[in-house]
Amino acid sequence: MNTQDLHDHAIPAVGADPKAILEHISHLHEQDVAWKDGRAWSLIYYANEEHEQLLQQAHRLLFNSNFLNPFAFKSLQTLEHEVVAMTAKMLHGNEEVVGVVSSGGTESILLAMFSYRQRAAKLYPSITRPEVVAPATIHPAFDKAATLFGLTLRKAPVDENRRAIPGRMEKLINKNSILLVASAPSYPNGVLDPIEEIAALARQYQLPFHVDACVGGFMLPWLEKLGHKIPKWDFRVHGVSSVSADVHKFGFGAKGASVLAYTGMDYLKHQFILTTDFPGGIYVSPTILGTRPGGPLAAAWAAMKHLGENGYLQLAQQLMDGANKLRKGLESIACIEVVGDPCMNIISYTTRNNRPDIFVVADQLENKGWMVDRQQFPECIHLTVLPTNLPVIDEYLSDLKEAIAFAEAHPEATAKGNAALYGLMARIPFRGMVEKNVVKILEEMYSAGKFPTPEKEPEQKSIAESNPAWMGRLSRFLSWLKRIK
Ligand SMILES: *Cc1c(COP(=O)(O)O)cnc(C)c1O
Repeated sequence: MNTQDLHDHAIPAVGADPKAILEHISHLHEQDVAWKDGRAWSLIYYANEEHEQLLQQAHRLLFNSNFLNPFAFKSLQTLEHEVVAMTAKMLHGNEEVVGVVSSGGTESILLAMFSYRQRAAKLYPSITRPEVVAPATIHPAFDKAATLFGLTLRKAPVDENRRAIPGRMEKLINKNSILLVASAPSYPNGVLDPIEEIAALARQYQLPFHVDACVGGFMLPWLEKLGHKIPKWDFRVHGVSSVSADVHKFGFGAKGASVLAYTGMDYLKHQFILTTDFPGGIYVSPTILGTRPGGPLAAAWAAMKHLGENGYLQLAQQLMDGANKLRKGLESIACIEVVGDPCMNIISYTTRNNRPDIFVVADQLENKGWMVDRQQFPECIHLTVLPTNLPVIDEYLSDLKEAIAFAEAHPEATAKGNAALYGLMARIPFRGMVEKNVVKILEEMYSAGKFPTPEKEPEQKSIAESNPAWMGRLSRFLSWLKRIK
């Protein structure tokens, strides 16, 4: 068969040969963000080529294994146990700490939220509308969990440094509260919440407390060892009952591995789901997935054993050196300010009084080939400093200066493309309208018969460009808003 047949949206009548298939996938992959050139400041946690090769080999060894049945795959049982134990030790947990390896930060958070809900239902049956109290900067995985498990997530405002305010969280605690959550640190601005003070609330109100260290779990322990002043946030803090830490972020594992650890079985046990009347036999499930791939677990174990403390410390040092250089560079630009008070190699920045427009600057950076993560409340650009970014920090700063010069020289420029989408979205006061429009974009992305292929759509269109009617409506609405103000 020729390669063109691979574009048909049907299983081919006759199977294609492996070479053509791999070429096709590689071809598709060419459209992806050039993360190896340091163009992405999120998403890919790549330590170095040797480490990458090891992860792939470890992954391949258990590629076909299935943790659905741990008795059939004792290897996975051992690896999970050891990954949890290594993580617990790194987080200063005692020997009572137990946990699971899940498929990622989101699954760890879903599991924690589910487990605490089950626990509350058992211990406090009078609570029929369970609530969880969080700072506003908490990750959307908690919203997802709340939606899935019928919980109400109450979000407290954060301070001007983007840090949780325990007093504001306390105001949201009531008789329906079942759990407190906070971040170490928050993803958008890299800010560490005051875990010890929130833990004091947890003790005072006898609530469990989950710390989301998905991004910081495998970074903050090394920063502390390197002498950075990091307030205590892990299992040393009395009142913290569980922690999520992603091996597939700064643990430098392969995608699909996160640790959820609790201070004891009293918490973990509520997360187990059993079906005793299934004709296929008694079915037990410690996590959310049914079939659980063994590859990511093997790679997680391999990553931790391969890097070792010395490897993690070295990477942490390099990343912080990079982050400090980047921060200094940003702060040397008069119109730029760093948002909040980041505790690790996550930096978000914006323009003072939005002059020039930060989203116009974002557009310019995108034109220069950078992948730009635009954020809102406040409007800013997110940078997680990754090993792949280290060689391009100077280039980024000089492109940023040019982008700012352009934006300053063109005050009439308005944010275009994706920037328009995010920019306009951030500026719409009615969040209901934002929600409606975003759902429309998703519906379109998933609509039947829509298969973007490189041949049919050579240039990648931004979401805004592929929704011109929608963008038109939005900008008319915004100009109307401006007029009535
Ligand atoms: C990445 C992240 C998550 C979610 O993890 P996924 O692996 O993307 O599902 C949750 N919380 C924080 C703080 C994160 O950085």
